[in-house]
Amino acid sequence: MKPFTYSRASDVAGAVNAAEREPGTRYLGGGTNLVDLMKTGAEHPAHLIDISRLPVNQIAEQGGGVRIGAMARNSDVAAHPLIRQKYPVLSQALLSGASPQVRNMATVGGNLLQRTRCYYFYDATYTECNKHVAGSGCAAIHGYNRMHGILGTSEQCIATHPSDMAVALTALDANVVIRSSKGERTVPIHLFFRLPGETPQIENDLKPGEMITAVDLPAPLGEGVNSHYLKVRDRNSFAFALVSVAAVLDITADNHIRAARISMGGVAHKPWRSDAAEQALRGREKSESAFREAAEMMVRGAHPYRYNGFKVELARRATVRALMTASGLA
Ligand code: SF4
Repeated sequence: MKPFTYSRASDVAGAVNAAEREPGTRYLGGGTNLVDLMKTGAEHPAHLIDISRLPVNQIAEQGGGVRIGAMARNSDVAAHPLIRQKYPVLSQALLSGASPQVRNMATVGGNLLQRTRCYYFYDATYTECNKHVAGSGCAAIHGYNRMHGILGTSEQCIATHPSDMAVALTALDANVVIRSSKGERTVPIHLFFRLPGETPQIENDLKPGEMITAVDLPAPLGEGVNSHYLKVRDRNSFAFALVSVAAVLDITADNHIRAARISMGGVAHKPWRSDAAEQALRGREKSESAFREAAEMMVRGAHPYRYNGFKVELARRATVRALMTASGLA
């Protein structure tokens, strides 16, 4: 591990001012991903600002929705009565991730900012990784790419985003609240994350020194009860998604779909949504055939690599199953 300096923040304003002054600063929340990456050499911040004691961990109703403080621990969010009752898909996603011990430490802000689990990124001895060194290449494209992306990839990077929570938040149309010395701004979560394009090292919309302080959930779609998070993985705990699907439906009393939101994980550099798939479900009677059509649209444009071709069919089937469960048909 490379040497770094450490300080502890006592308030948000002080933390962002210090981070903006010192290039190479990273915020330390639960440390469940950043510290691992520092040990492998994949991350080497010059300075860490410990923000774990900042008073931004509340979960409370706000304007018809709920605000979740960025320092709220993943287990606290999953168990909170407001989340379980109004946004059960978020509880399910959180509980499908990591282990109880990790969830007790991991924060909401840190969960959004966790880095890809691409083997070639994690092991800093690989020299071909455009996330580490721009222009060095992508070892995964011609290497072992079973866990990698099939949608929205580029010649520069085919990594996937590892967060389950982000997939559910995307299906809930959450907003990310960000602080800097200039004030506060809010970014819709689907715009917060980026596809790799030509600059895979830029993974999100955060500027140097900016800090995530909260995530805002809008009022639930319908009653929030027609939802489901399905995660398909190699083993039933402590494993990242091969494919995951968060499905949220608003269904009328006569079984027609008023609105649908579907988000997929494990397939792209960000949680993957398809406007076409969601629009195709609007006004349709809930049925397996309607869900199959939507699933086909979710994987439209998929580009599999040598070892991950199975993900295309898996994504189709997972989407149908998640929608069937969310709608009460399965
Ligand atoms: Fe690096 Fe992305 Fe290629 Fe993995 S997929 S080696 S993270 S550039």
